[in-house]
Amino acid sequence: MNVTYNCPACHRTTRAQIAHRSAAIACTHCQQPINVPDGAIVGQQIHRCLVCPSTELFARKDFPQRLGVALVVIGFVGSSIAWFNYHVLLSFAILFATALIDLVLYIVMGESLTCYRCHAQYRGFEEIERHGGFDLETHERYRQMAARMKEPSL
Ligand SMILES: [Zn+2]
Ligand SMILES: [Zn+2]
Repeated sequence: MNVTYNCPACHRTTRAQIAHRSAAIACTHCQQPINVPDGAIVGQQIHRCLVCPSTELFARKDFPQRLGVALVVIGFVGSSIAWFNYHVLLSFAILFATALIDLVLYIVMGESLTCYRCHAQYRGFEEIERHGGFDLETHERYRQMAARMKEPSL
């Protein structure tokens, strides 16, 4: 299990390994420790963000979006070319092959959890689906909260 987060002290991206009895994680650049809140890690599950510590996280496939889109385009263009050259079977074979690669990639890639508030990413935990997928309303709420915090107080 590990977390990738933005260190609150040096503002650099760092990654820390988490064991299920970890009491603290530390930044690899500046060694700034973050204490793991009580009940944040239960067994192999994460219940709240260790960094900020919000309880709202969303699950997401670690799927390389660009690669997925590229595969769809390659499949479409490749099969169109075959189609126009009257290779009907080849046309379907290309479409099928690229769709299959897409599907295999999707299955093989792990799921990660992202914190709405500080965007820390958690990998290698169990029962990630429990947190639910990305919710635009929650995202918007945190975005506005962050924007308000940046405004100078009068
Ligand atoms: Zn740091
Ligand atoms: Zn967070």
